[in-house]
Amino acid sequence: MVQLRTLLQPSTDTLTLTAIIDTALCIGAGGSSGSLADKPILRAVDGRLLIPGSHLKGRLRHECEKLARGLGWPICDSPVAETMCPQIGTSQAAFQRPDYAIGSTFIDGHPQYHCLICQLFGNPALPSRLVVEDLVCDLEAESLPEVLLPGVTLNRRRRTAEDQRLYFLETSPVNAQLPFTGRIYLEANCPVYAKALILAALHHIHALGGSKSAGLGWLTWQVTEPTPDETAWNRLATVLSVGETP
Ligand SMILES: [Zn+2]
Repeated sequence: MVQLRTLLQPSTDTLTLTAIIDTALCIGAGGSSGSLADKPILRAVDGRLLIPGSHLKGRLRHECEKLARGLGWPICDSPVAETMCPQIGTSQAAFQRPDYAIGSTFIDGHPQYHCLICQLFGNPALPSRLVVEDLVCDLEAESLPEVLLPGVTLNRRRRTAEDQRLYFLETSPVNAQLPFTGRIYLEANCPVYAKALILAALHHIHALGGSKSAGLGWLTWQVTEPTPDETAWNRLATVLSVGETP
């Protein structure tokens, strides 16, 4: 297995997360082998169950965007390039602020502006400054029974079940309180508010994976460092007007 910590820049901070899955988890991929399910659950090469880091990172970005907008920060709209940083900063004055100018420029020398979220999660012009590891369940694969959940495709217009559309999802065992653990690595140049924003965003993620409305994937978080320091919170809560200095 590739060890992320050996590939990364020296990181200042690491958050260790554990998601305790309260119900059953359904994060799968078509085409995996070794299961009778149409959508088998994702596993590491050694068979342990996992929640992909990319899935968690996407959810974190979305929750961080909502929080930052709620605090009053101008935040770009992913994933279309024209409405994202740095393009949006060329036309919208709200983005042309000193704390969004982080030293990068366009080819013609004009400054690029990157919003609070892009400075953390990256965009096509700026690499991400955090890495989210896969969350892995360390229990022996053999000790976990394969759970298949039958479902049927519904026709929303006719509000009936479709013929010939029975499928099976593989989930983690139901109500087993399985712990999935992984780390978030914050690179040395990560903004000061990074950890505060991520911890706040985790409070808004109550479920992961598919079929959440059917009660799958509901979880509680255990975090090594539940409270970030005051200065980071204050920095996040103080949105300066354009031209104002801290
Ligand atoms: Zn942005």
